[in-house]
Amino acid sequence: MATITLPEAEVQETKKSTTKYVYFFGGGKADGNGKMKDVLGGKGAGLAEMTNAGLPVPPGFTIQTEACREYMRTGAASKEVDQQMDEALAKLEALQGQKLGTGENPLLVSVRSGAKFSMPGMMDTILNLGLNDKSVEALAKRSNNPRFAADSYRRLIQMFGNVVLDIEKSAFDEVFDAKKKQKKTKLDTDLDAKDLQDVIGEYKKVVKKHAKRDFPQDPREQLVMARDAVFRSWQNDRAKHYRRINNIDDMLGTAVNVQAMVYGNLGDTSGTGVGFTRNPATGTKEFYGEFLMNAQGEDVVSGVRTPVHISELEKIMPDVYNQLHEITTRLEKHYKDVQDFEFTIQDGKLYMLQTRNGKRTGLAAVRVAIQMVEEGLITKDEAIFRVEPNQLYDFLVPRLDEKSTKVEVLATGLPASPGAAVGKIAFTADEAVKMAGHDTTKNPVILVRAETTPEDIHGMEVAKGILTSRGGMTSHAAVVTRGMGKCCVAGAGDIDVNEKAREMRVKGQTFKEGDWISLDGTTGRVIKGKLNTLDPSPDDPELQKFMNWADPHRKMKVRANADIPRDAIQARAFGAEGIGLCRTEHMFFGEEKIPHMRAMILADNEKDRRTALKKLLPMQRKDFEGVFKAMDGLPVTIRTLDPPLHEFLPRREELMVDIALLPSYDAKHKKELVAKYKDYGAKVVGDLKKLLPTLLARVEQLHEFNPMLGHRGCRLGITYPEITEMQARAIFEAAVDCTKKGIKVLPEVMIPLVATLKEMANQGAIVRRVAEEVFKEKGMKVDYMVGTMIELPRAALVADEIAKESEFFSFGTNDLTQTTFGFSRDDVNKILPTYLAEGILKQDPFAALDQEGVGQLVKMATERGRKTRPTLKVGICGEHGGEPSSVEFCYRTGLNYVSCSPFRVLTARLAAAQAAATDTLKVEGGRTK
Ligand code: ADP
Ligand code: MG
Ligand code: MG
Repeated sequence: MATITLPEAEVQETKKSTTKYVYFFGGGKADGNGKMKDVLGGKGAGLAEMTNAGLPVPPGFTIQTEACREYMRTGAASKEVDQQMDEALAKLEALQGQKLGTGENPLLVSVRSGAKFSMPGMMDTILNLGLNDKSVEALAKRSNNPRFAADSYRRLIQMFGNVVLDIEKSAFDEVFDAKKKQKKTKLDTDLDAKDLQDVIGEYKKVVKKHAKRDFPQDPREQLVMARDAVFRSWQNDRAKHYRRINNIDDMLGTAVNVQAMVYGNLGDTSGTGVGFTRNPATGTKEFYGEFLMNAQGEDVVSGVRTPVHISELEKIMPDVYNQLHEITTRLEKHYKDVQDFEFTIQDGKLYMLQTRNGKRTGLAAVRVAIQMVEEGLITKDEAIFRVEPNQLYDFLVPRLDEKSTKVEVLATGLPASPGAAVGKIAFTADEAVKMAGHDTTKNPVILVRAETTPEDIHGMEVAKGILTSRGGMTSHAAVVTRGMGKCCVAGAGDIDVNEKAREMRVKGQTFKEGDWISLDGTTGRVIKGKLNTLDPSPDDPELQKFMNWADPHRKMKVRANADIPRDAIQARAFGAEGIGLCRTEHMFFGEEKIPHMRAMILADNEKDRRTALKKLLPMQRKDFEGVFKAMDGLPVTIRTLDPPLHEFLPRREELMVDIALLPSYDAKHKKELVAKYKDYGAKVVGDLKKLLPTLLARVEQLHEFNPMLGHRGCRLGITYPEITEMQARAIFEAAVDCTKKGIKVLPEVMIPLVATLKEMANQGAIVRRVAEEVFKEKGMKVDYMVGTMIELPRAALVADEIAKESEFFSFGTNDLTQTTFGFSRDDVNKILPTYLAEGILKQDPFAALDQEGVGQLVKMATERGRKTRPTLKVGICGEHGGEPSSVEFCYRTGLNYVSCSPFRVLTARLAAAQAAATDTLKVEGGRTK
């Protein structure tokens, strides 16, 4: 076998008047190479690279992505594209000594989509193009295999009908299934040539009926139509959806690969398969894959037949197996990354059809990165780019708690994507969406399908886990869930899924929609009922090793948002270096606190308010002590009370209903009401009559039309200074008490929703005064800081002023996004889907920081603040603090730290390390995509 030579970057940008639209590959040489993913797409680049390396790749040509972009702009392919395609086709025909779809030895081709980033199953491929009523006979004669010829033709009509003519797959499936039923068989391979000819006849009728035209007999017309359909498929809903959730640019477009067919369905010495050079679920170094004999194309991944493990190939065809093993090992060495490959065996001869860097779980990504460093394939610095920051989440996925309940294993499928999921069964994607509603945690759903298709993507997104009864480790369900970091058990063949009847049967039991099941994606087990889940331990030694390589590159600190000691302890275990946001209001929701909190809110005068606050003081102090203890030696940012007060009171409408209906309620119902209003002072039924109207009056007083822009944040502390006083007292008393116990405390008091210098000065003065009082009373001083959250555009504009009174800034980017866009965060989902679909926004600005707009405010405020106070400490504590692209932005803007939810700390650490390493190491695109 030829050795693989590194390609010279021969992307000559010769500015000729015409663009090179078509790149040929074949005869040991390709016009393009592996680096040209932008132009040729991932698949085209891989085919070119393999061809240049002398690997057995069927020849063909790639129509580049610019042609697709033009097609999107103008709605048609230009004459130039047509002409270059015809020239390349002529070259292919000459090389093969065949003519497309004509003559005694007709050339057949596949038409394959392939964008820069792989989008599994999102785009469509057509095989056996060139067949028609005449060439099918030539193929039968030439191959001396009429069954094979008919099988290929029926596949073409089916794929062409679906992809090009937009006919539902089921229209063809019905015909095919009817034939199998008639022949009393379940296997495609049991149908003979005659049966398949019948199927072809029926398929043609399906085409005529649905597309109102005949299946095109002219091979070139087939080719042009297929090419254009691939261009159009870039814009189909599934593709758009996939791009959105994976952050892929809509404007890239796809390339089209036209490639001479090789036939895996020629008989028992032919077959097709897919594989990975290492296990993509666990990272174990093992040759890994699946194949089917006498099969073509998608058969392996579609789950129509359950494929066989690659090790079987060694027994059936040892030579082919060895050659495949050798080729893929070389490919891995060449690309220095796990390869995900496709191959076809035609009459005992091996052909490579695709290679690309394999998608893998976070677990596998870390393991493989470490292995490859140990094998000397990559350096430690390169290794840190081999894991996407979000993938580290995999180490934090839950496991099933098998001690709490009896475990009844219903079936064992393939461990397609690790983690555990517990939920109610839904049999269709739509039903899953319905059942999950707005809260996928409260309403956990397991999507159960015979096999998933790209049409199920919306259901897969809301589901906690996916279970399929067919398909392998490389099935659609497996690949997509691994990308999502979601638990999946695939190919659990013992389960009989009946989507129409909405039930599944296994071990003689029947399960209906809404029944509970538990999945273990790490072992592949399907378990009856609702098991508890266990928190995973983040102390995996390989993860630690990997993070020890990454962390030294990092220049920003990573903190966590945590309100209670339990979360703080957890965050610390994940490597948080402080708390960036401790929200005090969450502390008030505790059982024993809420009545006092409510008394405080209901008070309409300062005296009553102070009485209630006094009761809250010791409780707050205890909360803070707990958090300080957990974070011993690390800084803790505590925010003073932020939300509008009525969030702690019953809803106005609800009260009105209760008041109106009270007289008509029976004794039992009245008792229930007493319980409901117990926290507001209801003890017996008699209390209700007076209490409820009083409550309503206060609720009315507090009512606001736009509470998010209302009486909240520092505005509360300014109108009710005693609240800030009590909180400051609790913080400093706790700080001193802890210090006396030998705990090192670094409190940072943060004033929310500041827009002007004077607001900051007002609240800062209270905090500092109380601090001095407490220090005097207790005879001990503690170092502390007072600062603000920057979450209003005005604050960013006058940050130089505010910095006079503020020792640190923390960007509250949730509110800052809300107020900069004027989007209500809680209602934006009515608008967002359309905005994303229309491309008005590229991303949800509440998920990934809007660098263009909101980011400018962040940058400006940082610069202005530091002009006044060069030592100003600056951080971010919005949701964005754990999102990789936003973390990178924070690094470039010179922030001192990011703060995020405990579960995103690992992700933020890696993202921050990668951002800094990209700078210092000048690595370009070292990431696996
Ligand atoms: P996807 O992007 O979904 O992987 P592909 O373009 O790789 O789609 O093709 C789908 C299937 O068809 C794959 O199994 C591939 O190996 C097979 N295939 C594509 N082109 C050919 C060909 N020229 N000969 C034989 N099989 C092919
Ligand atoms: Mg493929
Ligand atoms: Mg806020």
